[in-house]
Amino acid sequence: MPETLAEQLKDRADVEENVPLATMTTLKIGGPARYVIYPYSTMTLESVLRILRKNHIPYRVIGKGSNLLCSDAGYDGAVLRLDRYFNKFYFEGSVLTAEAGCSVISLAYDAMKNSLSGLEFASGIPATVGGVVCMNAGAYKACMADILRRVQVMHDGQLEWLPCSACHFAYRHSLFQEHPDWVVTAAEFNLRPGDRGEIRALMDDRRQRRMASQPLDKPSAGSVFRNPDCISAWKLIEGIGYRGRKVGGAQVSEKHVNFIINDGGASSADFLTLVHQIQKAVREKYQIDLIMEVEKFNWQ
Ligand SMILES: Cc1cc2nc3c(=O)[nH]c(=O)nc-3n(C[C@H](O)[C@H](O)[C@H](O)COP(=O)(O)OP(=O)(O)OC[C@H]3O[C@@H](n4cnc5c(N)ncnc54)[C@H](O)[C@@H]3O)c2cc1C
Repeated sequence: MPETLAEQLKDRADVEENVPLATMTTLKIGGPARYVIYPYSTMTLESVLRILRKNHIPYRVIGKGSNLLCSDAGYDGAVLRLDRYFNKFYFEGSVLTAEAGCSVISLAYDAMKNSLSGLEFASGIPATVGGVVCMNAGAYKACMADILRRVQVMHDGQLEWLPCSACHFAYRHSLFQEHPDWVVTAAEFNLRPGDRGEIRALMDDRRQRRMASQPLDKPSAGSVFRNPDCISAWKLIEGIGYRGRKVGGAQVSEKHVNFIINDGGASSADFLTLVHQIQKAVREKYQIDLIMEVEKFNWQ
């Protein structure tokens, strides 16, 4: 009898089978992933990747799944998750080093408690370090590339620290999107000493602005479309009259029109049909192509 994958990965990772992607994404959409793997450490991660390759099992990494549209068809491969075991961090002076599974919201609060400024803009992004590095996530005219010092990544069987300048950061883009088989394992951030009260006040202000403007009580994947150079995406969606528009269980949020919420039982096709309708209507009215910021995760 050949060993199962769980047996081969014993002592290296937790392995779960046939887990709905809907349980791993903030949008709560997506069919089953054949395997979900939680590696124990960078040392075992290297051998997990080797064993997956030997078994010809494709893999992708998921952080908190907060930027993903997963197909209902499921994923016949392995989802790697670092949020169970890669969650250590420490401060050394004003430099924060954090493993890739750490929650960015928690890190922003810990930075504030240490009177360190820089992560306030990210204090409402429901994501992991790996995810925000890969996406170069940003808000309020700031982004991860502004504060990253270097990124640790596992690729081709090696662990390497890349300086920020080598990471090809641009608007919601990084080198790591060009290499979906690479795994970000940690990152170092340059923070600045600041006044704890002022940092807390800024974070409170950001949180209140998000609560007032975003449908945080409903499953979503954040902003659906990138902002074109010349105009905000929400203005275009407002302009075509799509506020509240529904396809099945997917709905353009009444509160923030660049969010599509899962209003209960939305399928991946509902979401995508609504996206395509918006893109078509915006193209016809404004001659602008809206590009999805939410990533299609497991589509043929
Ligand atoms: C309510 C809400 C508010 C949001 N607000 C913002 C915002 O203000 N600004 C913003 O930019 N985004 C925002 N987002 C979108 C989302 O949080 C970001 O895109 C975030 O960077 C995704 O992080 P994640 O850990 O959830 O990654 P996932 O969504 O799980 O993955 C995103 C990509 O990163 C890759 N990835 C994840 N971890 C790793 C790793 N360790 N190594 C290699 N690749 C990896 C995945 O394969 C995938 O390609 C919001 C989302 C929601 C739901």
